[in-house]
Amino acid sequence: MRVAIIGGGIAGLAAAQALGQARPDLEIVVLEGSDRIGGKLLLGSVGGITVDLGAESILARRPEGTDLIDAVGLSDRLVHPATTSAGIWTHGAVRPMPPTVMGIPSDLDALEKSGIIADRPQSLSIPRPPTDVAVADFIAERVGSDIVDRLVEPLLGGVYAGHASALSLDAAAPQIAALGDDLLAGATRARAAAVESGPVFAGLVGGIGRLPEAVAAASGAEIRTNATVREMTRTDDGWKLVVGPTTAVEVIDVDAVIVAAPAPAASRLLSDAAPEAAFALAAIECASMAVVTFAMPGSAFPKAPEGSGFLVPPVDGKSIKAVTYSSNKWEWVGKESGEETVVLRCSIGRAKETALLQRDDAGLIDLALADLREAVGLTGDPIDAVVTRWGGGLPQYTVGHLDRVATIDAGIAAVPGLEVCGAAYRGVGIPAVIASAQGAAERLLVDFGKMGL
Ligand SMILES: Cc1cc2nc3c(=O)[nH]c(=O)nc-3n(C[C@H](O)[C@H](O)[C@H](O)COP(=O)(O)OP(=O)(O)OC[C@H]3O[C@@H](n4cnc5c(N)ncnc54)[C@H](O)[C@@H]3O)c2cc1C
Repeated sequence: MRVAIIGGGIAGLAAAQALGQARPDLEIVVLEGSDRIGGKLLLGSVGGITVDLGAESILARRPEGTDLIDAVGLSDRLVHPATTSAGIWTHGAVRPMPPTVMGIPSDLDALEKSGIIADRPQSLSIPRPPTDVAVADFIAERVGSDIVDRLVEPLLGGVYAGHASALSLDAAAPQIAALGDDLLAGATRARAAAVESGPVFAGLVGGIGRLPEAVAAASGAEIRTNATVREMTRTDDGWKLVVGPTTAVEVIDVDAVIVAAPAPAASRLLSDAAPEAAFALAAIECASMAVVTFAMPGSAFPKAPEGSGFLVPPVDGKSIKAVTYSSNKWEWVGKESGEETVVLRCSIGRAKETALLQRDDAGLIDLALADLREAVGLTGDPIDAVVTRWGGGLPQYTVGHLDRVATIDAGIAAVPGLEVCGAAYRGVGIPAVIASAQGAAERLLVDFGKMGL
């Protein structure tokens, strides 16, 4: 039995690992279009220090990420952030971010003290509508639009590079939907319960970008890079894949396929085999963004950077949307960079805001530096700066997303020997993506079982 997995991001690799572990007899090939595996997980060097240039942490409150780290032998590298205190740059200063549940404040005294919101918010208890709704509409009606603009929006910008006015409450912010009709009371309750459940985030010494290679090795799969899948066609007993550059096309026959490519590529590939799923996938827009990673001399800061970084509400019209002080957040980065150097990263770009990203790398570096000067009084030049562009990097879970996913699921379920997984469906965070991959692998194994294979 031969299974092809299209896409060598963490979804494709986790699917390969799940299949390989359950059925070592399967012949598994991962076909990755680019020249490297890992997708949004990527290590690179800035100022001679190896750091993550893409995803850099995982949610530790759900098990799939940390369990996979354990399963592939990296648990001795598992760490938690050295600091989780973050700021919001608004009203002319970086202010301490009060505790929140995805932006819904759970400590109104801390919120008032921070100066982020002009007036202490009041909570209106309003039952949720029966259908999906935009995050901004839902929250503004209950606790006011200032909370949306200065707390929820920057947090959603960080996770989805999206806008609260377009993102779906049910798909992008289910933790807010779960707070009940009175959001402020719900947030206070949720936070009290969460304090006891341990650290929220985790990372790997040496970078989360180490995970893909380890998962690939543990999977036992054949990993092929520079292997873009151009077409997939159903045959009498499996699938025919057309792979590789147009000048050297190769045809690969397999018994089953897991499509682990982002929504636009998955939509193109599935247009014949599962047209309704392909149509629904085509409706999932993706936001582009860039990460500018700096090695800065410590002396460039008028005072040592505090906490893990800060978020920037779009309402304030700045270019950057978030700053992470990597050498504060991760002890291993701090050790690598030493006391004289600060490693930090700035994210730029939200859905439908592509103008900023049309600048060349030097232009993006300048934009980030200008904001850093204004926000924290930075002076001088960086030791090094690396721009990493993530075109179409984050799928947008807009209102109605879960209905689209249900259509995709139904379309895929109707085709034997076909599964999909990845960030386009039920969560963009790494643990959610791993869960989606493991679900796809499990369903395929059930299919094989039914067919006696
Ligand atoms: C800048 C950035 C920072 C992030 N930070 C975090 C974070 O800190 N924590 C977190 O949990 N999440 C983070 N995320 C989200 C998370 O990293 C991603 O949602 C997740 O890694 C997506 O994994 P994936 O395998 O679904 O997709 P991808 O990583 O996009 O992998 C898909 C792969 O498919 C390949 N492919 C596409 N088309 C084809 C084809 N036709 N044939 C063959 N191969 C193909 C691509 O080259 C790619 O390698 C971040 C995302 C971005 C963009």
